Amino acid sequence: MNAPNKSGWKPSAPVTGDSDSPTTTGNRALMLEEPLIFEIGRTGTTGVDLPPVPENTSNRLGGMERSETIGLPGLSEPEAVRHYTRLSRQNYAIDLGLFPLGSCTMKHNPRLNEKVARMPGFADVHPLQPADTVRGALEVVSELANWLVTLTGMHSVAMSPKAGAHGELCGILCIRAALEARGDARKVVLVPESAHGTNPATAAFAGYEVEDIPATAEGRVDLEKLKARLGPDVAAVMITNPNTCGLFERDMKAISDAVHAAGGFVYCDGANFNAIVGKVRPGDLGVDAMHINLHKTFSTPHGGGGPGSGPVVLSEALSPYAPLPFTAKGEDGTVHLVEEENAGEWGHSDAFGRMTAFHGQMGMFTRALAYMLSHGADGLAQVAEDAVLNANYILRSLDDLLLAPYGESGPCMHEALFGDEGFAEDISTLDLAKALIDEGFHPMTMYFPLVVHGAMLIEPTETESKAGLDQFIAALRSVAERAKAGDDSLKAAPYFAPRRRLDETQAARKPVLAWEGELAPAGKPVASEIGGQ
Ligand SMILES: *Cc1c(COP(=O)(O)O)cnc(C)c1O
Repeated sequence: MNAPNKSGWKPSAPVTGDSDSPTTTGNRALMLEEPLIFEIGRTGTTGVDLPPVPENTSNRLGGMERSETIGLPGLSEPEAVRHYTRLSRQNYAIDLGLFPLGSCTMKHNPRLNEKVARMPGFADVHPLQPADTVRGALEVVSELANWLVTLTGMHSVAMSPKAGAHGELCGILCIRAALEARGDARKVVLVPESAHGTNPATAAFAGYEVEDIPATAEGRVDLEKLKARLGPDVAAVMITNPNTCGLFERDMKAISDAVHAAGGFVYCDGANFNAIVGKVRPGDLGVDAMHINLHKTFSTPHGGGGPGSGPVVLSEALSPYAPLPFTAKGEDGTVHLVEEENAGEWGHSDAFGRMTAFHGQMGMFTRALAYMLSHGADGLAQVAEDAVLNANYILRSLDDLLLAPYGESGPCMHEALFGDEGFAEDISTLDLAKALIDEGFHPMTMYFPLVVHGAMLIEPTETESKAGLDQFIAALRSVAERAKAGDDSLKAAPYFAPRRRLDETQAARKPVLAWEGELAPAGKPVASEIGGQ
């Protein structure tokens, strides 16, 4: 039985070939409608049969057990499978097409990685298993750590942070611990104008005051202004390299030298490491801490497809403060797990604490290591070359039509940046992005970095073919031409998506987060008395 959907179909309307005409079901061939689970679920329906609650449970729970049902929607197993499969088909995915989000590095997730991650010895380990029973898994963590330290030219790596932003916090907490250990209460973290929003958020969360460092006209950190601001109150600078304008910070070594001379530390946001992996070692540039997004550079799935993983490589100065637990290789080559009880034996009593309960994202470690081993060191260097080549192909295929604000600053790194200059007055970057949805592409990153008006940040990654890039470029050119010509139809795009343009202000101001209707009792058809939400 179908419940009414939210797009306003009317069962009595005639079905014609007109794309706006409804069908009786609301489905359009393979585009299947799907109501909320609260509209189709019924209390009392379930996909699993649980045994009755044993008599003595009440004693064991001390009277804390539920006395009445809480009205969760129930579906049979096939209904539940169909509900989520139908919803998943309304989503966009890297396995469907190019995902040009700037900075996010949405690259293909090789199937070989998935095969390795599903090997029972890796997939079925439990974090509370005795270390003796997971030697192979510890070897994998240690081997991955070794690759990360080698590729970055750093001293050690904290493997447990679970995403880039979490890694930033880990790095800044190491810096804070190192400063506290020398009795130095510095209060300020400097962050460039073009920084990813997580950088100032991390510094503020760790209790620091955040100050901007201005950029030069060519989109890089202004070294002279930075030097002028350094002093005994500056704990650290946080710099993304390559930066969010898609440019390499050529002055990185000079920046690090100046920060160190002033007694501070250098945090590098390494989310864009895929542009320089195998080419540049951040350790050689004086970086003290840098997170690596395994889910970006090393191809582990992200977005809806998987959790992140953000190991942080550390300089020798910060290594003593790295959080527990971690793996360390003994003299006989055996990999050990270093935790609170044995940290002293391993000379690691200064750890600032823990970032997570356990050891990090095992499933992402196996995938990332599979990616590294299948590419080899030379293959990883080619990843960087191809990522940069693809981004420059996009930049130079569009810069006659779209403003490339830093096009004169030389080749870009992993991503191409454009602004909205020349669009007709009432047409915005948002309109263009919505029209790209109709063309079958996920939109690029919009309105970031903030230093460019109406910014469009595009990262194709190395995994797209020239044919794929040409198709994307043709689509973007066509919508950009419409934006410049003032084609008003852009303002109502998308036309062909499962939902038309949503009211984003209402969605932010008045989000509907809870179902306020009533669920139908078991066995009763769900119908219009529930609707109208
Ligand atoms: C993605 C990204 C982050 C944050 O990483 P998460 O894994 O999403 O937490 C930080 N900085 C930059 C430049 C990024 O691209």
